[in-house]
Amino acid sequence: MNRVLNTRIVPEEEIDKPQSNCGIVGIYGHPGASTPTYYSLHALQHRGQEASGIVSCQRTNGDVPGSRLRIFKGPGLVTEVFSNQQILNEILLGDVAIGHNRYSTTGSDNLENIQPFMVNYRDGQLAVAHNGNLTNTRSLRARLQEEGTIFQTSTDTEVILHLTARSAAATPEDRIMDALNTVRGAFSLVMLHGETLIAARDPHGFRPLCLGRLGDAWVVASETCALDIIQAEYVRDIEPGEVLFFDRRMDVSGEPVQRWLDLKPEKYHHCIFEYIYFSRPDSKVFGENVDKIRRRLGKALAEERPIPAGDEHPVFVMAVPDSSNTAAVGFVRRASKDGTDTRLEIGLIRNHYIGRTFIQPGQEKREVKVRMKFNTVKGVIEGRKVVIIDDSIVRGTTSRLLINLIREANPAELHVRISSPPIMSHCPYGMDFPSSAELIAPQNGGDVEKIRQEVDADTLGYLSIEKMLSTVSHEGKRGYCTGCFNGDYPVPIEENMRKEDLEL
Ligand code: AMP
Repeated sequence: MNRVLNTRIVPEEEIDKPQSNCGIVGIYGHPGASTPTYYSLHALQHRGQEASGIVSCQRTNGDVPGSRLRIFKGPGLVTEVFSNQQILNEILLGDVAIGHNRYSTTGSDNLENIQPFMVNYRDGQLAVAHNGNLTNTRSLRARLQEEGTIFQTSTDTEVILHLTARSAAATPEDRIMDALNTVRGAFSLVMLHGETLIAARDPHGFRPLCLGRLGDAWVVASETCALDIIQAEYVRDIEPGEVLFFDRRMDVSGEPVQRWLDLKPEKYHHCIFEYIYFSRPDSKVFGENVDKIRRRLGKALAEERPIPAGDEHPVFVMAVPDSSNTAAVGFVRRASKDGTDTRLEIGLIRNHYIGRTFIQPGQEKREVKVRMKFNTVKGVIEGRKVVIIDDSIVRGTTSRLLINLIREANPAELHVRISSPPIMSHCPYGMDFPSSAELIAPQNGGDVEKIRQEVDADTLGYLSIEKMLSTVSHEGKRGYCTGCFNGDYPVPIEENMRKEDLEL
């Protein structure tokens, strides 16, 4: 039943390798829950293309021992892993399910790291699917190993299972709370403890997690696009620090049992990169429409980094598809307000039949992938004043290669505008950036003119941190993590983080 029959010994250097942003889903009380879980995972495919998995359970009426958890997981896209209906209809039976899409990091394609993880322990069976990255893994892991714990994976997520199993708290529910109060960093989680579905979000709210209804059933998902695909209704976001237990107690109350984690930070720290790049524009994330924020980022960029005025040429603005499309719409709307002839044009074409280039290990391979991914419409570009909008520059590979490609089509001018600030540092909370040594901005000391020369643009403009923050709501406890831009990390990074990543 479990495709992952892997007994590889985990090398030391892989341990505590930061895990990356992922997509998670949980469904409670829907017959054949694995099917809507599958569709929701499909809608969250952008959050992880390396591997996918589902664990399901059939609830009993409490009169017979709870049924066993059923698991199926493997490497690949959702449609590749769940390649035939029998997997959902005959293996993943039940009315409760959790699912996970795993994002890739270089060299981390080990089968034992594919989630959800599932274990047997004294309270029965426990499964977990995690989005985010914990920051105190190494110390916890060392302590647990000293106490005799055997680890099967190199992930931070496994620590949560062991902490739950070893907790001295009185009830299984308290043991889970105990574990979640012990870990630090970023976690949006769905768990199954036997028939109980648990959904939890870390006290800072780094990663998104929303709650929805599908008829009488409940749905938990990373983004609302996972609700839309199954026609579930969005209820609200799960709050930072909130833990929800969906179980038989709901037969009376109708609502999941709500508990809160001990830590109460003054402000939340939502990952602003979810708005810039990671989430889908048709999702509501952190209570706001991603599309709306992305348009605002584009408008703010046009205000802060306008296109140099010149002759009578119309300005042809082109998004790097698809992640920058929405920002480009905002940019053009703002730039054309003052009466200049600024047009949104389609000059870059993306081939959709390959995965994201960023996920490929090794620079050379990535360069090939960028060329495979984009081409230019030469007739649109030739002789034009062209502005390229991208959401971010990470290593600079995409910008360098794209600018090369565009120059082959002979534009009159070539300007580049980025709807986020320069990325100066690694993300310890799960966004998949390389170490500072590979990031183009710190390599150039954050000097935009040097970066411009490196990517060979006529002009280059990034959005400032202040202007970026002006596009998002700051109501109540809302706050944002900007660590990758300014090194301001709201949760202390413990020893499991690479030192060079802390150097700005
Ligand atoms: P690079 O070629 O390394 O500079 O990557 C920049 C491109 O990757 C941009 O066009 C972004 O849309 C995209 N990007 C930004 N952040 C990520 C990420 N965490 N994972 C994958 N792609 C990303």
